[in-house]
Amino acid sequence: MHRRRSGRTPLALALVAGMSLVGVGQAGAAPGALSASSAAPVAMSGPQGKQPVATGYGGAVSTVDLDASRTAIEVLRRGGNAVDAAVAASATLGVTEPYVAAIGGGGFFTYYDAKTRRVHTIDGRETAPRAMGERAFIDPATGVPLPFNDAVTSGLSVGVPGTVAQWEQVLSRYGTRGLGTLLQPAIDIAESGFTVDQEFYDQTALNADRFKDITPSRRLFLPGGQPPAVGSTFRNPDLARTYRTLAQSGPDWFYRGGLGKEIVRTVEQPPVEPGATRKVRPGLMTPADLAAYRAPYRKPTRVTYRGLDVYGMAPPSSGGSTVSEALNILENFRLAESDPVQALHYYLEASKLAYADRGRYVGDSDKVDVPLRELLSKGYAKERSCLIDPAKAAVAPVPPGSPDGSRRPCAPASGTPRALEYEGPQTTHLVVADRWGNMVAYNVTIEQFGGSGLTVPGRGFLLNNELTDFSFAPPANGTPDPNLPAPGKRPRSSMAPTLVLKNGRPLLAVGSPGGSTIITTVLQILLNRFDLGMDLPTALAAPRATQRNTPQTLAEQAFIDRYGAALRAKGHDVALFPGPPPGQIGAATGLEFLRPGLVQAVAEPVRRHGGSALVVHPVR
Ligand code: GLU
Repeated sequence: MHRRRSGRTPLALALVAGMSLVGVGQAGAAPGALSASSAAPVAMSGPQGKQPVATGYGGAVSTVDLDASRTAIEVLRRGGNAVDAAVAASATLGVTEPYVAAIGGGGFFTYYDAKTRRVHTIDGRETAPRAMGERAFIDPATGVPLPFNDAVTSGLSVGVPGTVAQWEQVLSRYGTRGLGTLLQPAIDIAESGFTVDQEFYDQTALNADRFKDITPSRRLFLPGGQPPAVGSTFRNPDLARTYRTLAQSGPDWFYRGGLGKEIVRTVEQPPVEPGATRKVRPGLMTPADLAAYRAPYRKPTRVTYRGLDVYGMAPPSSGGSTVSEALNILENFRLAESDPVQALHYYLEASKLAYADRGRYVGDSDKVDVPLRELLSKGYAKERSCLIDPAKAAVAPVPPGSPDGSRRPCAPASGTPRALEYEGPQTTHLVVADRWGNMVAYNVTIEQFGGSGLTVPGRGFLLNNELTDFSFAPPANGTPDPNLPAPGKRPRSSMAPTLVLKNGRPLLAVGSPGGSTIITTVLQILLNRFDLGMDLPTALAAPRATQRNTPQTLAEQAFIDRYGAALRAKGHDVALFPGPPPGQIGAATGLEFLRPGLVQAVAEPVRRHGGSALVVHPVR
């Protein structure tokens, strides 16, 4: 997305004036002497001032949004660290990307701490209310699951939001600035406004039909009954006030105070327009659910891959375990730059197997047993990799394996394959590194574009619909489902903010939006970077394909043009990814330490109108 904001406050203007926007596209020699290639062209400057690559010292950031990146850079410039900058950037995204990021949602935060050389992951995933049972998404009137879209626009889909607790958690442990300071740039932009661009217009228009039925959403996002015109200034004084009170009163106001009560009221009694025919089901959240919310530390997933350490997000996200399992499987094969088709065949097959296990075994590990140790083990991956035929694609869906520790060589797959649940392309990802060598990869989301469609009246932010990430009903064949709703449970996510270390030092951070395609996007970028000889800008820009244990492999047109015929000859049924947006998979952000202190920040050059990479002190 790209928008030029207008009407900036002095602080925002200072951010712009003080900023150098020079980008450097070519990677220097990365630690580990990994070769760079120019296999795919990388655009050097995106539309309307955004640029996808920046290299330099003093800290670096990549987000989908110019204002969010500028906010983070200014925090770094003033001596804040990567955690401070990531919080400030995500708060700004809450203003400028209100349909994907809001304090009404949640996310996953992964952090490499340079002082201790350790990776920490903080889980801000939304939780189900305590009154939510396994059949919550079954319509009592019909006995069948609710239509997905009815569930999305409802109080029922709203999970207890995690973002504010997560901010508090990361700032109290690793931050150096108060939440009030970090919210200020976002408050300024919310107050003074920004200029609506086509992407903002399109996302509003996408939601217009339901927003018009929800009074506070209509008032905020459909001024005059229509999406705000491209070129007009969009202000959100309600959100500015909300952030300001949050800064003064702290997270207790959200979880135990007045704002919490307003959130519960919105969920219990969705503020539907008088006369609207839409049925908006109420939810089950109570003040006690909000008061019970915690953003816990989780032990990160960790696997070695080609001598590197790859860290990710453990359950309730399936991101870390699925990326890790696929990497472990891939390590059993030679992936050569000289034979990309063979490498991609292995990539698609490894992903297929890892997704089969994800569907069968991964859910909220606080509530169900997840055989995580086995899923992350080299032995189990060896067992799974035996099933890959180097010459021929397996017919998908393939069944899950048995991560029971028996480690039988080439064990036949067991169990029944599962259908892939729908997950959309929404959410956002950002990365930050600072001058001390700390780095953050952070996914924030409210699930669908526009979340539940429910704006908290007078508060300027949308509530999530994250609970639709639960399975709506057990599989008909009776196999256990680790992702059914339950009291206090977190729905399984695909978010995969990923950190890569080499010899205990920071090397790379990467992640993406895209529902269940997040995992394959991250995986493919790692493969491109560490096996296929691409530098990070090229690895990120390269055309993508996603294989999630479905009969077809879905891909971008450029991927099909380049590899489709050769992969079809191996039995892959390659078809165009339907979107949204059609033919585009993911909107990744990443960064790489080219040598200590020198960081290359990378955003999308083209997808979703390009992202924004910035560094504090660019090198030319
Ligand atoms: N709800 C999704 C997940 O947790 C993220 C939103 C999206 O990318 O669609 O995986």
